[in-house]
Amino acid sequence: MTTVTKAVPMQDNAAAAKSPNLIKGNTGDWEVVIGLEVHAQVNSRSKLFSGSSTAFGAAPNSHVSLVDAAMPGMLPVINAECVAQAVRTGLGLNAQINLKSVFDRKNYFYPDLPQGYQISQYKQPIVGEGRIEIDVDGASMKVGIERLHLEQDAGKSIHDQHPEFSYVDLNRSGVALMEIVSKPDMRSAKQAQAYVTKLRTILRYLGTCDGDMEKGNLRADVNVSVRKPGAALGTRCEIKNVNSIRFIGQAVDVEARRQIEIIEDGGKIDQETRLFDPVKGETRSMRSKEEAHDYRYFPDPDLLPLEFKPEFVAGLKAKLPELPDAKKARFVKDFGLSNYDAGVLVAERENADYFEAVLSTLKDGTRDGKTAANWVINELFGRLNKESKDVGASPVSAAQLGSLVGLIGDSTISGKIAKDVFEILWAEGGDPAEIVESRGMKQVTDTGAIEKAVDEIIAANPDKVAQVIAKPTMLGWFVGQVIKQTGGKAAPATVNEILKKKLGI
Ligand code: ADP
Ligand code: MG
Repeated sequence: MTTVTKAVPMQDNAAAAKSPNLIKGNTGDWEVVIGLEVHAQVNSRSKLFSGSSTAFGAAPNSHVSLVDAAMPGMLPVINAECVAQAVRTGLGLNAQINLKSVFDRKNYFYPDLPQGYQISQYKQPIVGEGRIEIDVDGASMKVGIERLHLEQDAGKSIHDQHPEFSYVDLNRSGVALMEIVSKPDMRSAKQAQAYVTKLRTILRYLGTCDGDMEKGNLRADVNVSVRKPGAALGTRCEIKNVNSIRFIGQAVDVEARRQIEIIEDGGKIDQETRLFDPVKGETRSMRSKEEAHDYRYFPDPDLLPLEFKPEFVAGLKAKLPELPDAKKARFVKDFGLSNYDAGVLVAERENADYFEAVLSTLKDGTRDGKTAANWVINELFGRLNKESKDVGASPVSAAQLGSLVGLIGDSTISGKIAKDVFEILWAEGGDPAEIVESRGMKQVTDTGAIEKAVDEIIAANPDKVAQVIAKPTMLGWFVGQVIKQTGGKAAPATVNEILKKKLGI
């Protein structure tokens, strides 16, 4: 819900303003400006002001207490775990935690809102300004967070089961949401997508929201305006409840185009709430802002202001897990990974844990972070992606992959043979060292066997021998042939050496 009072500072974010993301129009270049309001369902067993379960997928109206159904005289009681989750999230967003905040009533009528108002926070939210760092096209930038507040979700109206009836399911009524409001710092669809992706990753690391967009547990209201570069901010439209990262990108692009066309045709943008239709690829008007904004907010007399001590915050801070930015920096520094590879590995906590488990099985001397990252990202994740599995369902364990990487590290097998071993591990399981031993896959470093193969290849290709003497870059062809001749088992370095000696180059 749109519940922001504090005026968003209208100055530019210097990093964002420099971005080359301009859109061509008939009257020159345009800049798109984006600010997001993300609703994240709090991970908690019970609701924000009642003890009812938050479990997903239960029979309609089976998780509804008298408080959730707004029976007269029932009083809300704040759920301490939801408060802790909001504070953890604020800490993860490098944000100011407000030791005193206030719950307000936001009044509106909706059949699935039996109270006739939503309990939310307005002027005094639990979390204030913060920031998130995102990477787009190799450059990193900061996106400001305006605030985070706690509020209740509404129930669900169901219209499509029986044409002449509407049903109301209150299971969701009263479930805790965090509304996380960004500053208007983003300048492209890609930046908006990177922001939501990063926010989702942080929430999942913190364990404060599962980030499941398909279930609606994370959804975004996307505010879009356009302007000529350097001009004041334009009038924005808010696209409600966009529920996938891909749709966020599409919604930004089509809405920016729509606004540019209107302005270039001499019209003006009306501030309004719109809906994105992914099938038609367009946004359409839902309601104008004026009528929607008369919520008559006032402090909820049933709830005292929410106050806690600095020690409460410090206690939660001390127990925060290592967050993605810190983990990424550590992977780059300690294991020599590229920024890109480290970014891929930390995108999900389980993936990063898997990678570290692979490294921990390697002995000193074979603990090569880059090779391990390469195997985890390209071979394992590539294969998991193809079969739509996540790392928790990997048929190859971190211990198995670690021992495979170790066999490459101590030159028992070549990288090429390792791929064959990986296939066997994937399909049949087993111990990599045993597989290599029992199937005769060990790298041949025995010079006698390699010399024999070299002699055969040289004898069979007199024309190529003449060429390689004039053009030493041809040597690669010979190396390839010899390795092939030995069934992929000859150590490339040894082959190289012997070839050079025999060819006299
Ligand atoms: P409201 O409470 O009416 O929704 P806010 O001014 O607090 O209003 O803004 C809500 C969201 O809209 C924020 O995420 C903010 O960054 C974004 N926003 C504000 N102004 C603009 C603008 N001109 N263009 C794009 N987004 C904007
Ligand atoms: Mg809003």
